Amino acid sequence: MIGMTAAAAELLEYDEVIAGFDPVMGLEVHVELGTETKMFCGCPTAFGADPNTQVCPVCIGLPGSLPVVNGKAIESAIRIGLALNCSIRPSSVFARKNYFYPDQPKNYQISQYDEPIAYDGHLDVVLPDGTEWRVEIERAHMEEDTGKSLHIGGATGRIHGASHSLLDYNRAGVPLVEIVTRPIVGAGERAPEVARAYVAALRDLLKALDVSDVRMDQGSLRCDANVSLMRKDADEFGTRTETKNVNSLKSVEVAVRYEMRRQAAVLESGGEIVQETRHFHEADGSTSAGRRKETAEDYRYFPEPDLPPVQPDSAWVAELATTLPELPWVRRARIQQEWGVSDEVMRDLVNVGAVDLIIATADAGASPEAARSWWVSFLAQQANTRAVELADLPITPTQVAEIVGLVDEGKLTTKLAQQVAVAVLDGEGEPSQIVADRGLEVVRDDSALQKAVDEALANNPDIADKIRSGKVAAAGKIVGDVMKATRGQADPARVKELVIAACS
Ligand code: ADP
Ligand code: MG
Ligand code: ZN
Repeated sequence: MIGMTAAAAELLEYDEVIAGFDPVMGLEVHVELGTETKMFCGCPTAFGADPNTQVCPVCIGLPGSLPVVNGKAIESAIRIGLALNCSIRPSSVFARKNYFYPDQPKNYQISQYDEPIAYDGHLDVVLPDGTEWRVEIERAHMEEDTGKSLHIGGATGRIHGASHSLLDYNRAGVPLVEIVTRPIVGAGERAPEVARAYVAALRDLLKALDVSDVRMDQGSLRCDANVSLMRKDADEFGTRTETKNVNSLKSVEVAVRYEMRRQAAVLESGGEIVQETRHFHEADGSTSAGRRKETAEDYRYFPEPDLPPVQPDSAWVAELATTLPELPWVRRARIQQEWGVSDEVMRDLVNVGAVDLIIATADAGASPEAARSWWVSFLAQQANTRAVELADLPITPTQVAEIVGLVDEGKLTTKLAQQVAVAVLDGEGEPSQIVADRGLEVVRDDSALQKAVDEALANNPDIADKIRSGKVAAAGKIVGDVMKATRGQADPARVKELVIAACS
């Protein structure tokens, strides 16, 4: 592909980028709030409805319609601000951000401008190697989402080459909170990692706050990544580009790295960076030029005349502060302490997405050790062979705890328990039902076991002699045969006792 070779040639090696430049980043994250209704009208916000079935005069901007603020959205915005260590403004106003775009039916977006509801905060994020990085938050403000354009007739779904476009206003007016960082400086070669870790931490935080479903794949969490480079000796920031709507954690990292390499190549060859938005291409991890960036003046911001200022009273804000959940990383540290596992083990548990599953399994009655062992070994293998995420395995923590309980009671051996788990994964029902249906319980009846022991000894006279002469270790083979004969349904410890008793 000509395009790709050309693009590759325009990138500087990462090492050379770092040797010559310091990156500066600014991350703007839009989060769609999980309110039942839109920001300024009563239309529902559910994802995936037929186009233009969730609209009304307010959200499609018909003349004479009047917006009313969604109180739940304000509450969520304040809780987000508090969780990000921001100050909450006692009085903040909405502003009209004026621009024409077909997915924006009013020709302006109601947003906040110079008086955002939350400002001056920070979020401490943990990098993959365990070090902490503080990201300063400039502001978190409320606004409404736009509709969606659908470009028809082209090969790529993009506007270029399309014969016509369709508009879906279901998303127009869905409440958004936009969280904007201060410039992130000094990250050097770790800039892409910091960007990813920040978005990951923010996502976990928003999820813990229960203000959004934070599905990057469905666009309920979107990141715009601003990147610029400074030469090592420069004392001013370089010109930034803004890569829009990067929609996975990995893509955030890839996009920042790509822009660093691309901008460095432009600067090294004597060129200049233009301030512009850029599109991210999932397929090859590249970015391409979008539109020249408007400046704030181009938007002709002015206070929204149809809405009063938002003035949350301080008692309410204080009350909301008491509803903040334990922060995900604080909770993680506490759990690590409780479980007594090393940093590495904990990081692995986090990376495979096992922490919440283990906690839920322990909450359902299993010991933390057993819960951990099930999720990180047997079930992790199952997830692997079934090519799904651990959390998407069709077995619940409650079911795992039930299986662990059956093992603890001595009703199942580990082997049998694994068969039961596989049956649950295969959709055969609840563990106890599977045990009953398949007659999987451990054989407790000594007389049945005695018979199998005697048979195994008779079939292996030389081993039987060894055991009789005191070589107890030789019993393993006999125990194995008995386990086989009972299809794994015997308790191996009990079998061993019977074998030794029979030989003494
Ligand atoms: P815009 O309206 O262009 O989106 P915002 O103020 O909302 O502007 O966001 C700009 C983001 O870029 C902020 O996170 C800010 O910290 C960051 N930023 C500002 N200047 C630079 C720069 N030179 N290089 C990288 N990031 C920058
Ligand atoms: Mg912005
Ligand atoms: Zn509406």
